[in-house]
Amino acid sequence: DALNYACPEDAFKDRIILVTGAGAGIGRTAALTLAAHGATVILLGRTQEKLERVYDEIKAAGGPEPALAPVNLAVARPEDYLELAGLFEKEFGRLDGILHNASILGDITPMDRYGTGTWDSVMQVNVNSAFYLTQAMLPLLRASDDARLLFTSSSVGRKGRAFWGAYAVSKAATENLAQVLAEELESTSNIRVNTINPGGTRTDMRALAYPGEDPMTIKTPADIMAPYLYLLGPASKETNGQSIDAQPK
Ligand code: NDP
Repeated sequence: DALNYACPEDAFKDRIILVTGAGAGIGRTAALTLAAHGATVILLGRTQEKLERVYDEIKAAGGPEPALAPVNLAVARPEDYLELAGLFEKEFGRLDGILHNASILGDITPMDRYGTGTWDSVMQVNVNSAFYLTQAMLPLLRASDDARLLFTSSSVGRKGRAFWGAYAVSKAATENLAQVLAEELESTSNIRVNTINPGGTRTDMRALAYPGEDPMTIKTPADIMAPYLYLLGPASKETNGQSIDAQPK
């Protein structure tokens, strides 16, 4: 199954996978892990230096040459994603997967005081940009004979929780976005669409949300990679419209 998936070393050979938020946290580890299994990864993120560091790590480990896509999801417009798709079309001719991983937390605060500007930014980065990016990349995903879309959810996206504000709402929207796409694409394409909830994982975002927690008590991004490899690669050919917990209770 997804959680205990032992991914063959060459499972992603000749697969081109775009990872958003690839400069840090779970996205960084996912990019390194995919490359270690043969993927050509496209590293998308807002901080060029972080992407370059991941690029260097992949090259140093002997992985396939990655591509860099410095994009700020908070400000990029639909036409920017179309331009990006044009570049990928020229360089690769197709895409075999997207890991929608980049997100921002916004504020942990009651709705009475939730900043409207913060609300807009969270929805822009976590939801709207994922739609723009997906729509722009659909022709490239359709050009693949076995493609995956994997969206990143959260437990607060399955059921809302006090004070989690736009983040919780954005993750519920993400679940629904994935369901809509999963149904539309199931019979008309080779694209499979699922969501993953990583569960508490040792990253900067987690530390921001839970400042009192000892990070050493929770899983690292590397610990939760099995379901990512499963849902992004050949193993999940028959998996569509599922919401997977990387760390089920
Ligand atoms: P981090 O904050 O550690 O990393 C997020 C990444 O997204 C960073 O590389 C960041 O770039 C990038 N990013 C943020 N905003 C933008 C933007 N505007 N444009 C481009 N890139 C951007 O988060 P995690 O690794 O913890 O989270 C990864 C995913 O997992 C998220 O979707 C999160 O909601 C989800 N998740 C995480 C949990 C956890 O416990 N860690 C639990 C449940 C869900 P930069 O480094 O340049 O800022």
